Amino acid sequence: MSQSATFTRLQQRITAYRDEMIDLQRELVRRLAVGPDNDGPGEAEKADFLAAELEKWGLQVTDYPAPDARVAGGRRPNLIALWPGRKPEKVWVLSHLDVVPVGELNLWRTDPFSLHVEGDLLYGRGVEDDHHGIVASFFAVRALIEAGIRPERTIGLALVSDEETGSQKGLAYLLEHHPGLFSPQDLIIVPDAGNPEGTLIEVSEKSMLWLRLEIRGRQCHASKPDMGINSLKACAHFIVALEALAQEFNAVDPFFDPPHSTFEATKKEANVQNINTIPGLDVFYLDCRVLPIYDLREVIAKVKDIAGAIALRFGVTIDISPRQFSQSPPATPADAPVVLALTRAIAAVYQRQARPQGIGGGTVAAFFRRQGLPAAVWMTDAFTAHQPNEHVNLQHLIGDCQVFAHVFLNAD
Ligand SMILES: [Zn+2]
Repeated sequence: MSQSATFTRLQQRITAYRDEMIDLQRELVRRLAVGPDNDGPGEAEKADFLAAELEKWGLQVTDYPAPDARVAGGRRPNLIALWPGRKPEKVWVLSHLDVVPVGELNLWRTDPFSLHVEGDLLYGRGVEDDHHGIVASFFAVRALIEAGIRPERTIGLALVSDEETGSQKGLAYLLEHHPGLFSPQDLIIVPDAGNPEGTLIEVSEKSMLWLRLEIRGRQCHASKPDMGINSLKACAHFIVALEALAQEFNAVDPFFDPPHSTFEATKKEANVQNINTIPGLDVFYLDCRVLPIYDLREVIAKVKDIAGAIALRFGVTIDISPRQFSQSPPATPADAPVVLALTRAIAAVYQRQARPQGIGGGTVAAFFRRQGLPAAVWMTDAFTAHQPNEHVNLQHLIGDCQVFAHVFLNAD
């Protein structure tokens, strides 16, 4: 049978997995794998379930857990599942096990902890980020196995922990403690970002800087504000003053979407419990996504300048500490084999021309690229990750699964 006839048969097989894909999503949504940094139980329950599934299908599964005393059992799992090809060089699909918390429950139309199906749409926390990658890659391997196809390259599915909170117990741990797992000859796909058309192959990311900003004033009774120093008022002025960052670091690079650097105040810690107390301590966080041409140390220096002016004006002290400092590594070349293989697969499945591009969101691909491992981030992305009513379209799951199957079948 010709390669294209074989692929057409694989596509039909994958389309028929529809109900089983829903079942797998249902099992994954039930096992809410929120990491301990977000006050969750970790990923072990979900990982154990997935390892058993993969072994049932005949894959060889090994866990490389990162120790973490904060979770029951003390382990943050990192699963490597292999399906041997004719040669040891691999095609990898790396997905992450952890999900973000559900957020404000009353914004969800359905229970985020249990899968809700509406036609082709599946709702629940994690269905897109990153069950989309897990489910699509699982069924792509299974299609090959059930069709009795031995691929040229060995297929590797990596399921890592801790992607949502920095990856130190996930991919960063794997690369540090088990550096032989991945090779520069491998094709590495990370299905964790993309666009709704499935045409964005992400080969570069903005640098990422997360700052914790602590403003210390002096607490007092709200009827006598002069007795204290209002940390919240200083905090508000500080957040507004930080808009100067966007003016200072204002370069535009059309390779990225959005094309400019972004500096957003995000999380705010609670201060006083009652209305009639002037707060003396406020803490907030700044999420900066910076074009790779800028040195993040320069961004921190500018934040310190702004903080100094606010401290002087309001009589507060401001402490700045980085929670994430990730200077962007060199891009994956636009003509890397993984980019070309994906481009051909996307054309075969979706009849669309994909293009390599940069994005603002950070993915684990940066860890690969820092080690000289050419990773490409791709999936059909409806942008519902981290949101209430997170959902995924089954047609995208099936299509993306076919794209992975095309890469597995044709990569040489
Ligand atoms: Zn993700």
